[in-house]
Amino acid sequence: MPLRFNIRHLERKALRLRGELPVAELDLGGIDELIRASLPLKHDLLVERQPRSVLVQGNLQLTLSCECVRCLRAFEHRLELNRWSCLLPLDGDDRVLISNDCVDLTPYVREDIVLAFPRHPLCRAECRGLLAAARAEARSVVNATGEISSAWAELNKLKL
Ligand SMILES: [Zn+2]
Repeated sequence: MPLRFNIRHLERKALRLRGELPVAELDLGGIDELIRASLPLKHDLLVERQPRSVLVQGNLQLTLSCECVRCLRAFEHRLELNRWSCLLPLDGDDRVLISNDCVDLTPYVREDIVLAFPRHPLCRAECRGLLAAARAEARSVVNATGEISSAWAELNKLKL
């Protein structure tokens, strides 16, 4: 279902656009090599006619697959734009493009989604990077098997 509405349908009442947009429509590839989007964008928007514009407001939600800049671990980042809004002028130089009475909201949504991308995706705020991740993993292996490798036993001695 494209993110589009017919402007004639707004003449008497507001429209609600609720559903999912295939993420390919947003064309998010190549913006950041550490961020990928494969799940659809969820949206719940209210579209209202104003005297000289159209007001769109509501919620947008997109789950991103990210790679941590510090430890390279893959993680999911849920991007939520709550109370997102967009005013589309119907006249003037910035007026919205209307074709066959329809307005496509995709470019407006895309712009704000891209702006909301995490600048430096981190698996968690306190991620200390690859070395710390390797240590944590080694520790969990130790915990899981109950065995302590000699290297880690040496390390433990040092701590004493
Ligand atoms: Zn990390």
